[in-house]
Amino acid sequence: MDQNLHKKKVCVIGAGISGLAAAREVRREGLDVTVLEQNAGVGGQWLYDAAVDAGDPLGIAGVHSSIYSSVRLNSPREAGGFSDFPFYPINGDGDGRRFPVHGELLRYIRDFCDAFGLIDAVRLNTTVTRVAMDGSPSRWTVRSKHRDAAGDGEEEVFDAVVVATGHYTQPRLPAIEGMDTWRRRQLHSHSYRVPDSFAGEVVVIIGCSVSGIELALELRHVASEVHLSAKSTDAGLTPAMSKLLATRHDEYTNLLLRPRVEHLRDDGTVVFDGGESIIADTIIYCTGYNYSFPFLDIDGKVTVDDNRVGPLFEHVFPPSLAPSLSFIGIPALVILPRFVEMQARWVAQVLSGKRTLPSPEEMKIAVEEHNAVKEAAGVPKRRTHAVWLDVEYHDEYGERVCGFPRMEDWKKEFILSAISDMRDDIERFRDDYHDSDLVADGLRQNGWMTSRR
Ligand SMILES: Cc1cc2nc3c(=O)[nH]c(=O)nc-3n(C[C@H](O)[C@H](O)[C@H](O)COP(=O)(O)OP(=O)(O)OC[C@H]3O[C@@H](n4cnc5c(N)ncnc54)[C@H](O)[C@@H]3O)c2cc1C
Repeated sequence: MDQNLHKKKVCVIGAGISGLAAAREVRREGLDVTVLEQNAGVGGQWLYDAAVDAGDPLGIAGVHSSIYSSVRLNSPREAGGFSDFPFYPINGDGDGRRFPVHGELLRYIRDFCDAFGLIDAVRLNTTVTRVAMDGSPSRWTVRSKHRDAAGDGEEEVFDAVVVATGHYTQPRLPAIEGMDTWRRRQLHSHSYRVPDSFAGEVVVIIGCSVSGIELALELRHVASEVHLSAKSTDAGLTPAMSKLLATRHDEYTNLLLRPRVEHLRDDGTVVFDGGESIIADTIIYCTGYNYSFPFLDIDGKVTVDDNRVGPLFEHVFPPSLAPSLSFIGIPALVILPRFVEMQARWVAQVLSGKRTLPSPEEMKIAVEEHNAVKEAAGVPKRRTHAVWLDVEYHDEYGERVCGFPRMEDWKKEFILSAISDMRDDIERFRDDYHDSDLVADGLRQNGWMTSRR
C-alpha cells in the first residue's frame, strides 16, 4: 500500500490528562487514534475510587487512583489548564477556589474531553495486558481485555503506541527490619481514603513529603498521636514543618516529628533511629510510587531500574523503538497539563512526519549524557525524571521539542509564588495568598477574577 494513503493507527494507553492530551494532538495531525482505558470513565487519578481492597493495603489494591477524599489541588487552577482551554470555574456550581477539591479537576478533564470530541476515540473498561512488536518496530500488537469479555481479550495491530498510564499507583515501600512480621495495620498512602478508622489510634506516618505531611495534618484531628517519621529530623524540618510544630498549634500537641524508623517489633513497637520507641496501631507509608509497565513485552528494550525508566530520549522516546513507541507523563513534579501537552504535541508531530528525531545512536548518547549530568550533580537514580517544577526547564523543553510557546512572565511568577507559599506554610497556602501586581494584572488580562487574600 502507498504509505501516503495509509492513515497511521495510533493506540494511546490511558485516558488521564496525558492520554487525552495525546489523543487530541494525534487527531490534530490527521492520524487515527484509539484510547484504551481500564477504568469506567476518563480522568485517571482524578477519578476518585472509594473502594480500595483492604486485603492488599501495601499493594495496588486493584484500583488506579491514589486520591483520598479530602484532596485539594496543590497547583493553582489559573496555571493548570491546557494552553487553549483554561481551567475556569463553572458558574454557580462546583468549587471555584484557586486550589479546588479534586472533583473539580475531574470535571475539567471531562469538559476537555467533550470540548474536543475525544470520547468517541476512548474505549472504556478496557485493560491493556500486552504490547509487543509485530515483526517490525513500526507495527505493534496490542492485547486488551474488556471488563465483560470472556477469555484473554482481543489483539489489534497499530502503527504506534503511546503509553500514558501515570505513575502514582504502584506503591514504593522501604525495607525496614520487622516489616514482614509486624502484626498491626500497615498501609501505603495509595490505599488511604478517609480518616474515620484511625480514630483514637497511635499512627506512624513514614515519609515527610507533601502526602506525609498532609495525612498527618488530617489524622491529628482524630488520632490520639501522630508520629511523622522523616529520613532525618533535619530533612523533615522544612519551614512548613517548623511552622506546624510551632506554638500556634498548641491545640495539636499530638503531632510529633520523628527520625527514621530503625526497626519494627512483633508486639507493635516502632523503634526510631537513636533508640526511642513507641507502640503504634497503624503505620502509613507515604514513601512514593514506582513506575510500572506490566504490559510491555519488548525484550527489555525499556526497563525500570530504581525508578529510572530508560533509555528514554527526553523522557519520551526509547531510541531503539522510536518513534513508534513513546511515553507521555513520565516526568514528575511538572506543571500539568502544560508539560504533557508539550510532549503530546511532539509525539504527534513526529508520528505525522512534521518533525524528525535524531538517529537512535544520537538519542542514546543524549540519554547517557543526561543521566551523567544528573549523577554528577548528586541526583539519585530514582529522581531521574523529577523536574521539581522548574519553570525555566519547562520553557526550554517545550521550545526544544516542539516549538511550544514560552510561559508568560506573570505566570512564572505566579507558579513560583504558589510553590514558595506551600513550602512556607503547607497548612494555609491554599487559602492565604497575596498576588503581586504583575500576577494580578496577568490574571485579569487572561479572564481571571483576581482576589488578593
Ligand atoms: C494524592 C495525589 C495528589 C496530586 N495532586 C496533584 C495536584 O494538585 N496537581 C497536579 O498537577 N497533579 C497532582 N497529582 C499528580 C497527578 O497524578 C496528575 O495530576 C495526573 O493525574 C497525571 O495524569 P496522567 O494521565 O499522566 O496519569 P493518570 O492520571 O494516572 O492516568 C493514567 C490512566 O491510565 C490508565 N491505565 C493504567 N494502566 C492501564 C492499562 N494497562 N490499560 C488501560 N488503561 C490503563 C489508568 O486507569 C488511568 O486512567 C497528584 C497525585 C496524587 C496521587
